[in-house]
Amino acid sequence: MDPIRIELPTEFDVGPVNCYLFTAPEPVLVDCGVELPASWDALLAGLAQHHLTPADIRRIVITHPHVDHSGQAAKIAALSGGQVWVADLGYEWLVNPQKMFGLRADYYRDHFLIEAGIPDEMAQMIQAYFAQVGTDTTPVPPEAVHTFRVGDWLEMGGARWQVLHMPGHASHQTCFYQPESGQFLSADMLLPKTPTPIVERPSPNQPRQPSLPIYMASLARCEALEIDWVYPGHGEPFQNHRQLIHTQRSRIHKRKDEALALIQQGHRTAYALMNEMYAHYPPALRFAGLWMLIGYLDLLQAEGQVGVAVVDGVWQYYVNK
Ligand SMILES: [Zn+2]
Repeated sequence: MDPIRIELPTEFDVGPVNCYLFTAPEPVLVDCGVELPASWDALLAGLAQHHLTPADIRRIVITHPHVDHSGQAAKIAALSGGQVWVADLGYEWLVNPQKMFGLRADYYRDHFLIEAGIPDEMAQMIQAYFAQVGTDTTPVPPEAVHTFRVGDWLEMGGARWQVLHMPGHASHQTCFYQPESGQFLSADMLLPKTPTPIVERPSPNQPRQPSLPIYMASLARCEALEIDWVYPGHGEPFQNHRQLIHTQRSRIHKRKDEALALIQQGHRTAYALMNEMYAHYPPALRFAGLWMLIGYLDLLQAEGQVGVAVVDGVWQYYVNK
């Protein structure tokens, strides 16, 4: 059986998010939209087309606990008594979003935004935004959560789907792959527009993990899979995933080369580079490109093309000779 796509509105730039419904042998949702009245209404309408209500849902399977994918999980679980299934990697984010978003916001404030050279006022706004996401998210009670692990097989729609870890956009992102039918629930791993490689808080006493190089490695693993249909977290299902991966990769390398040229021209900090790379946005909105830019810089470092020195607590990039 094919996953049934129900598109739910969000307030984010990414646009609507997809939730996928399997009706048999029991009603299962994969992802469930952001906590907004319009999103709830769209979910009710989508389920009603299959003569279902949220109270009928036995399992809500979460690809990654970002609020557009998991925001309504607590509400559906409370109504249905169903379980919210998530990878162990994402468990804490689902049951304690305030703590986890708060820790990341603290890391941004105390380390990342300073190192990126972001001016105080903008840094405070970014920090406050991420802390707010955590406090605005309804936690899922631990007793309603069932965790699975990478490599496990999940029964959905009468078929077995393998859990694949696909970090890069989020360190805890999982995709679900059905090898016999070649169906792939790709979350935000394969999207028409490259997903943001979110800078994550490093584990204690560990260096920061470079999200875009990690995403590129996940792309290569997707490329190797025999996939017939991709069911993405946003936008229409599509085929020819290798074509999409090729396009994504070319664009990433092109933008990465642009960042390299800007460093050669003397733009040294992430903030200065962000203002050049995203000059087509109004100044107050350019920070939206910061995570992608850090990704290009991480990639240039991983390739040995640039180095970074810390001067007064701020990263200064230079081109390796
Ligand atoms: Zn998403």
